[in-house]
Formats: sequence, C-alpha cells, structure tokens
Amino acid sequence: MMLPVHPRPKNNELLSSWLTRLATENGCYSHSFFTNVIGLKEDIVRTDVDRSNSTELIGKLSQVSGVSTDELSKLRLSSLQGEVFSHDSLGTCVRWVLPLGFYHRIKRKRGIVYCPLCLKEDEVRHFRKSWRLAFINLCEKHGCVLWDHCYHCKANVDYQRVGIGSAVYDLPNKDLGFCFNCHKPLWDSPTKELSLDLDRFSAPYKDFISVYESGGSVLPTLNQPLNLQVFNGLWILAGRVTSERGGEVRERILRETGIEILPLRKNYSFEGFPLQQRLNIFIAVLYYLQNWPHKFINLVKKTPFTVTAFGNDIEQLPFWLSSVIFEHMNSTPYATTEREVINAMKYLQAVNPGFKKVELAKLLGIDICTLNKRLKGMKKL
Ligand SMILES: [Zn+2]
Ligand SMILES: [Zn+2]
Repeated sequence: MMLPVHPRPKNNELLSSWLTRLATENGCYSHSFFTNVIGLKEDIVRTDVDRSNSTELIGKLSQVSGVSTDELSKLRLSSLQGEVFSHDSLGTCVRWVLPLGFYHRIKRKRGIVYCPLCLKEDEVRHFRKSWRLAFINLCEKHGCVLWDHCYHCKANVDYQRVGIGSAVYDLPNKDLGFCFNCHKPLWDSPTKELSLDLDRFSAPYKDFISVYESGGSVLPTLNQPLNLQVFNGLWILAGRVTSERGGEVRERILRETGIEILPLRKNYSFEGFPLQQRLNIFIAVLYYLQNWPHKFINLVKKTPFTVTAFGNDIEQLPFWLSSVIFEHMNSTPYATTEREVINAMKYLQAVNPGFKKVELAKLLGIDICTLNKRLKGMKKL
C-alpha cells in the first residue's frame, strides 16, 4: 500500500523527523499512524527509533513511501556506526548520541536540539541528524549556539508529540517547528552567539564541525585513516578532562582562555552534560589539540593529569593519543601505580610483542631497578 502523501527526506534529516512528517502530512497523529496504518509491531514513539537497526521497519517504510531503503537507512543514527562510534545497541548508551531518557512516551532528557535560524529558513521544517550528536552544539551554517528546549515554556523538544492529546488542533499540526507543549514557534527562540572568550578560541571547533558536516576527515593533522579513531580519542579526552585528576588542567584552561569546564558529576558521561558544558569542553579540547601534541603536552605537564587519569579507558585509546600519553604523561614525579605498569605492559605488548624490561621502564619514566622492585611486589599479589 502506498500512502497518498509521501514526502521526500530532506538533506541531513533525522529519521524520526521524516517519520513524523510522513504521518502528519497524511493527516494522522504519529502514535496511531505507525501501528494502525502502517502495521508496525514496535511502538516507535516509545523507543529511540533513530537508533533502530531494524531492517523490517525500513522495509515497510520504503513500501508505503516509495523512498528507497538505502536512502531511509541513511537517516538513522545507526548509519554513523564505524564513523562516529564503533557499535550501538538500542537500550544502552552510545558514545556521542544524546540520550532521550524515555519514560513511556515522554522524553525526559534534552536530547533533541535545534538551530532556530535553520528552522526559520526551512521551507519544510525538519530536524537534522547531526543535532542529536553531543559534539554538535553550534550551528555550522549560522554560527549560533543550538537550543535544547523551548524558549517560551522551557519544555524539552519533542516533535513526535506535536498535537498529541491537544485540544488545539483537530488534525495534527504539520509543522514540526512548533513546541508540542505550548504550541509556540521554536524558531522564535532568540539567537545565542558565542561569548567573547569562547569565540576567541573557537576557530578549531568551527573547522571541525564544518569538516564533519561536509563528510571530510576531521582533524586531518592527526593523519588518521578513519574518523572513528579521532572520535574515540576525543570522547575519552573530553570525559577525562572533567575527572578529578583533571582539576589543575581545568584551572590552566580557565586561566589561559577564560573557558570554564566543570568537574564531572558522578555517573555522568559527556552526553549527559548540559549543552553549554559540552560546547565549552569541545572548544577547549580542540584548541589544545592544535599543533599536536605540543600545545597539549604544555597544558598537562607537571599536573596530576597523567596516564593514571585515563583509568580503564587507557586500553581503548587510539594510537595517536596513547603514544603521546605514554611518552609525555607518565607519572613522574608521582609514584607509578600498579595499574600504570599493567597498562604500559599491555600497550607495549600490542605495539611490540617481545619488548624488553628496559623499554617498559623508559615508557613509565622510572628507573630499571625501581621497575624490578615494582614487578616483584606485584607478583606477590
Ligand atoms: Zn542554523
Ligand atoms: Zn513551549
């Protein structure tokens, strides 16, 4: 069955945005449309449909809309697997993707963001795929800070609920740019420019998002064959800089740039930070990655931000980062921990199986006798 109206996906549109348009442009509310009209088993307004890997879903949607399965698959966040994150499974957190915090059909987290100017200019208002990514906090086109809630009523953005349970419209509102809660236009939210401090140091970040949006290789100076290796390192850095061990580094960043980075609250990951914090962290981190690795080494030297600060993440570090960390951020003058010795051994094992003890000592920045004592002590455990 082909639906009477089948809108084409817009450039860089997110699947849930197109799905909602498909329903409302056919005169239906999304919650009844997908189960009653299309006959989907899953309730797509209760799950993060953009992270779904279901081929059945894409197949059915292609049948009723005439849009190819290839084109529809690209609208999903899961299509970023292998580029931005290495794996995704629905129901867990995934690196870089803003969580929605579902409670039944309510999205409790501010996981949907928008640029008011983009929405204002849209001929057909739609939400972009990249707006769900935790490192996109500035509009590449307009240079303004994105919004993650309604300016008028402060509600979270939820275009899938536009019109649901509302006495305002008989038929669903077809315009995704209205707030589902107060029915006022989201595109009326005032434009927020970067503060002066942030703007002064934002060039590397602006380059980064513009290269990302155009599909190029991000941070080309790192010479990585895959964007994934850059993203994996950035995710760990962005998180670790907010850790307890990052205190002095954050103070230095504040002194040198005026950018304030707050310490991590327990059980928070980068995606759980408020938008402004994510923006601050990213602008600062990318600024210090310029002229890699010299600026970064200067930032961290003689601080407790050493190999140890990376904890268990050390095993997942991409080589461009781990090589610098092990060469320049070993623990001296702090006592080497057992964890560091083990991690350094794992690291050497990976790059040079059959390495010698003296290489291990050099990597850890400790004397060979000290290392021997350490190793003896560890064997007793
Ligand atoms: Zn914009
Ligand atoms: Zn509102």
